[in-house]
Amino acid sequence: MSAKIIDGNVLAREIRAEWKARSDLLTEQGMQPGLAVIIVGSNPASSIYVRNKARACDEAGIHSEIHSFPESTNQNEVILRIRELNADPRIHGILVQLPLPNHFESREIIASISVEKDVDGFHLYNVGALVTGNTVFPPCTPFGVIKMLEKNNIAIEGRHAVVVGRSNIVGKPMALMLLERGATITICTSKTRNLADHTRRADILVVATGRPHMITSDMVKPGAAVIDVGINRMPDGKLTGDVDFESVKEVAGHLTPVPGGVGPMTISMLLCSTIAAAERALARA
Ligand code: NDP
Repeated sequence: MSAKIIDGNVLAREIRAEWKARSDLLTEQGMQPGLAVIIVGSNPASSIYVRNKARACDEAGIHSEIHSFPESTNQNEVILRIRELNADPRIHGILVQLPLPNHFESREIIASISVEKDVDGFHLYNVGALVTGNTVFPPCTPFGVIKMLEKNNIAIEGRHAVVVGRSNIVGKPMALMLLERGATITICTSKTRNLADHTRRADILVVATGRPHMITSDMVKPGAAVIDVGINRMPDGKLTGDVDFESVKEVAGHLTPVPGGVGPMTISMLLCSTIAAAERALARA
């Protein structure tokens, strides 16, 4: 058996085209969606992500601004800028590129973003909304995974979903979103004993560990949908996922590649959330 490979680039393009129409309509009504991205320091990976987000915004008709601060910046200067952006009617989404330098308290920075503009969904208000099933801004990466499952008609309700990884940005919100849609959930971590005993029971297996190729074919149930969130830069410079693609594709029913899988979906979901925030702002105006 050879898995159906889910092309994240194609799906992401389709979703962006659907949402571009909504963005254009808002612009016609005088409410062009706007996204502000804050970046502190010069982490090369973060700089690439931020540039990609700005380019994707342009293509979707979204006004975007990049607010760059040097590594030496004091945390209060960033909070002051966020407050200005909170009050700026041209901006509907504010995103702080993580990780921040060590002398920053990320929690305080995120807490200063207006909950109506927190497009990443990391503010504690939005985390609470997600936990209680009243999601306003779904965190972009797990939301992209849900869209990949839905667009491929992979049933979630009543299935057993195993999420490997429990970070606040991927693993935990992923598990909550699958739970909300009626899946039975297992969350595995680095402390899990006999990981393969759990992963082999998964109808849907989502892996977000940052450990290249840790999921091998003997850990996958035949026919399972395997979603690889991991992005790992190998010594030869190539990107690879947390799943051993070549062996797992012979066992899984669906499989996402790295690159070209979940990554492009994450950016599309950010654009959708920014446009949705502008639609809500128009409704309030
Ligand atoms: P974190 O490092 O914050 O979390 C990794 C998680 O994996 C932890 O919960 C850890 O467990 C768990 N883990 C590590 N090793 C094992 C193991 N051997 N067995 C089981 N669980 C393990 O990473 P993130 O969640 O931020 O990111 C995960 C990966 O996803 C990275 O490669 C990252 O680059 C990628 N990513 C991709 C995105 C995309 O758009 N495609 C977006 C965000 C991230 P414990 O808690 O016990 O330490």
